[in-house]
Amino acid sequence: MDFSEFATICNRLEDVPGRIDMTAIVREALEAADEHDLSVLIRFLMGRIFPDWSQEKIGIGPNHVYDAVGYVTGKDRAAVIREVNKGGDPGRAVEHLLARKEQTSFFTTPLTLGEVYQDFTTLARIEGSRSQKEKLRVVRRLFANATPLEGRYLARLMLGELRIGIGEGTMRDAVAAAFGVSSERVEHAYQAANDLGEVGVLARQGDEALAEVRVELFRPVKMMLAKQGTIAAMLEETDYLAAEYKYDGTRFQFHKKGGECRMYSRKLEEVTGAIPDVVEMLSAATPHDLILDGEVIAVKDGRPLPFQYVLRRFRRKHDVASHIEEISLVPNVFDLIWIDGETLIGLPFGERRKRLEEAVSDFVAPQLVSGDEAEIEAFYRGALDEGHEGIMIKVPTSEYTPGVRGKDWIKIKPAVDTIDLAVIGAEWGEGRRARLFGSFLLACNHEGTLIPVSKVATGFSDEMLAEVYELLKDKVVSSEGKTVYFEPELVFEVGYAEIQKSPNYEGGFALRFPRFIRMRDDKGVDEVESLALIQERFTRQSSM
Ligand code: AMP
Repeated sequence: MDFSEFATICNRLEDVPGRIDMTAIVREALEAADEHDLSVLIRFLMGRIFPDWSQEKIGIGPNHVYDAVGYVTGKDRAAVIREVNKGGDPGRAVEHLLARKEQTSFFTTPLTLGEVYQDFTTLARIEGSRSQKEKLRVVRRLFANATPLEGRYLARLMLGELRIGIGEGTMRDAVAAAFGVSSERVEHAYQAANDLGEVGVLARQGDEALAEVRVELFRPVKMMLAKQGTIAAMLEETDYLAAEYKYDGTRFQFHKKGGECRMYSRKLEEVTGAIPDVVEMLSAATPHDLILDGEVIAVKDGRPLPFQYVLRRFRRKHDVASHIEEISLVPNVFDLIWIDGETLIGLPFGERRKRLEEAVSDFVAPQLVSGDEAEIEAFYRGALDEGHEGIMIKVPTSEYTPGVRGKDWIKIKPAVDTIDLAVIGAEWGEGRRARLFGSFLLACNHEGTLIPVSKVATGFSDEMLAEVYELLKDKVVSSEGKTVYFEPELVFEVGYAEIQKSPNYEGGFALRFPRFIRMRDDKGVDEVESLALIQERFTRQSSM
């Protein structure tokens, strides 16, 4: 398939608003695609380059794109950026610049979809000291051969924002319609394979090929997620439930084949090197080849530490050994996804749990199976007493549904606290909120001075953001890049999950999961929470 054809399809998709029309256009494109283009076409249309399980990244940022386009069109980076700033869309800016260049250029070879993918693969594999130059050469060559419309989508693909609105749901339905299989089958296969490109190829072969899809080692599957709920409501649906502690750490997926082990984060990035101690513990806990799902927490004197201690370890690439001693990590395993060649995600949770207990000798998260509300509540209180975040309750008959935030896993934790803080600054919003303030800098009161303690960017309706903008737009006293600072007048009530120690704010604390609740028009900035009381909240929560 020529890349120009792909660009034309994207252009058509950008112009149709409805999902039904979009599905029809995608379906048509998939039906027409060659065998060897199909998987790439499916991923590209979703704005993805490599399979979801893959660790490969092209490693191209805006500056690579702007430099390459500048080179090809005879401009410098600043001129390209000026063009981007005009409309805020790098794709359209590249298109515009290439259109002006085209009259002067004769020697181009048409791009094909396969070649573009090949070049992306090359980009992902370029390493070493000369990598930036080599990458730039590849990107320049691509733009040199691109038509303006191709340039629009090439730039957007590289920058990870295709903006044509084909999500997993639309693609799943289009694959099903194109090859006459059910959407459920496609979804099921996708959950195991974690690559809609591959699933599309199998769908074309038919139902049987799709049904054959299995989870594979070292191809992480998406993690199953949880919704909020209550024990009572869950017990109305099911006779008995499995309850586990909700550990406040970091999710992991552990893959083991003989002596070879790999660890993946919630974002499916490989983190084996950052937590070798945990990898070793898990490896020693089982003789089997398997894939485990769990949460790793930091522990000191037998009590869990707040989750940022774990995050610090996950992020660490250097000097890992000395940090192992500082913070000891403990894995808690709560699911078994695959074992010795057998995919278990279709089994009921109760059975997976039995298999897990047989296969792994250590670190299996304790579980209570009960149909008694009072007993589960007591378990919940016990979890909080021990310093955990709450509990998870899971339906014992449920399958493991990768990537799904469904009603089979429910999280139960204490209601969020709220706090009143002064609004002292803001950053401009993005996308459709670009003309409004999008996130706000908040401050507490320390002996008459306002001291920053957090930012809040979620919980606002469009109307509320517009209202806040009207109140603040004339209060700007200074600006610095995207940030503006206000004369302090407004007070926000903000919900949060926890207070953390943080070097990022002057006050030494930050809110975890801050969420706008309401404006406190009835309060003046002199009435906001004091730093001393924040310290007190922090201490109380640490001793809970
Ligand atoms: P949340 O991040 O609040 O949506 O809660 C879901 C997260 O809780 C999961 O993604 C896990 O990282 C974490 N978690 C902690 N303990 C468990 C558990 N026993 N079972 C499942 N998830 C857990």
